[in-house]
Amino acid sequence: MDFGFSKEQEMIRKEMAHFCKKELNKEYVAWMDENVDFPPPELWQKFVDIGMFQYNIPREYGGEGLGMVDGMISYEEICKASMSVALAVGTTIGFGTRFIAEMGTAAQKEKFLPLLGEGKLKMCMALTEPAGGTDILGSVATFAEEKEGRWVINGEKVFITGAHASDYMITICRTETDAKPSQSLSVLLVPSDTKGITITRIPKISCHHCDSVGITFSNVEIPAENLLGTRGNGWYEMLTVLNPERIGCAMMGVGLMAAAYSDAFQYAQQRQAFGGPISRFQILQHYLADMYINLENARNLTYKAAWLCDQGQPYHLEATMAKLVASEGALHAGRFGAEIMGGYGICLEYPMQRYLRDTYQLQFSPISNEMSKNMLMQFQGLPKSWS
Ligand SMILES: Cc1cc2nc3c(=O)[nH]c(=O)nc-3n(C[C@H](O)[C@H](O)[C@H](O)COP(=O)(O)OP(=O)(O)OC[C@H]3O[C@@H](n4cnc5c(N)ncnc54)[C@H](O)[C@@H]3O)c2cc1C
Repeated sequence: MDFGFSKEQEMIRKEMAHFCKKELNKEYVAWMDENVDFPPPELWQKFVDIGMFQYNIPREYGGEGLGMVDGMISYEEICKASMSVALAVGTTIGFGTRFIAEMGTAAQKEKFLPLLGEGKLKMCMALTEPAGGTDILGSVATFAEEKEGRWVINGEKVFITGAHASDYMITICRTETDAKPSQSLSVLLVPSDTKGITITRIPKISCHHCDSVGITFSNVEIPAENLLGTRGNGWYEMLTVLNPERIGCAMMGVGLMAAAYSDAFQYAQQRQAFGGPISRFQILQHYLADMYINLENARNLTYKAAWLCDQGQPYHLEATMAKLVASEGALHAGRFGAEIMGGYGICLEYPMQRYLRDTYQLQFSPISNEMSKNMLMQFQGLPKSWS
């Protein structure tokens, strides 16, 4: 058993840590959080220049063909610096590239993968609808009808991350009327500038520099060839994309925890009370110790899930547990990190309040922690607790 990274992997970490220190310093991230709803083009270009979008593109399409562990090593550094930037970059890599690499035809891969690798396209995934995200099979009502060589889409999506900045929306629609829900979904590649699409901002407390928006589709027409994967089988085919998403979201929790722990640890040593640093108070040391333990647990689970994924072994349970442990640990770290900083913990001048705000998003997205636990026990053989 070897918990270490290879020399090459250590190099990946070092390079990304250096990049984040330079391009995602705390002042710039704070500025983005107050001023933009998506990372600015000049920052995006810097990610393109370091080859960020190449890593999971297969070599035959001009990419690096790297695995999940390699990807998570660089992603961890971005998550520590800014969860919003990690989300923004992650939607194109995790949804755009992965959907096309896993489900695309040879022609679709030929057309889109090189452009994605060169950072010329941004993509998002539009699955959730206003009727509910947990009971997703019961709530997808957006309908795509095939008519004379075109799909005509009508419906509404909600909380779609990065849709306002994307070139294509990978949209999950109901296409069958006489099949059960799990056999009636299809995945469509919708150009974002198609007539009939309206985007609405959703103000929220988390991840200010990566908005998640509402989308209305009103008689949106796209070519029939924009179907990704098999008609009616989208639900099953999509799972190859949704499980890796959980690993990425777990890493966001790990990054937030690491950042909150590091800031709180430093602050506790500098802040004075009753004639010495507050770090000598045992109760604050216990807060820090809990953060440290949670971080180690979540990080190990996340890399284990990534490693299983690379080995071609089942990893859905580990990915789900990692997301749960990391999101709960991140919420704890934001909560107690702020506690350690007293009044400064909620001041905009310090990033602690941002870590705390950002952690909330991870509690229920991409899957809620309640539903995660339902699934874990169902897979252990207990009766399914929802219908
Ligand atoms: C900021 C943000 C970004 C997002 N980005 C995307 C995106 O890019 N693309 C996309 O498609 N979606 C996205 N989502 C949607 C996200 O996946 C959903 O919010 C999530 O699935 C939860 O759905 P819901 O918000 O409708 O909550 P609901 O499904 O209404 O759940 C409400 C509560 O009920 C609980 N609950 C429901 N069913 C059960 C049950 N059987 N047992 C126990 N408890 C249950 C839940 O755990 C939760 O506590 C995003 C959401 C947010 C807020």
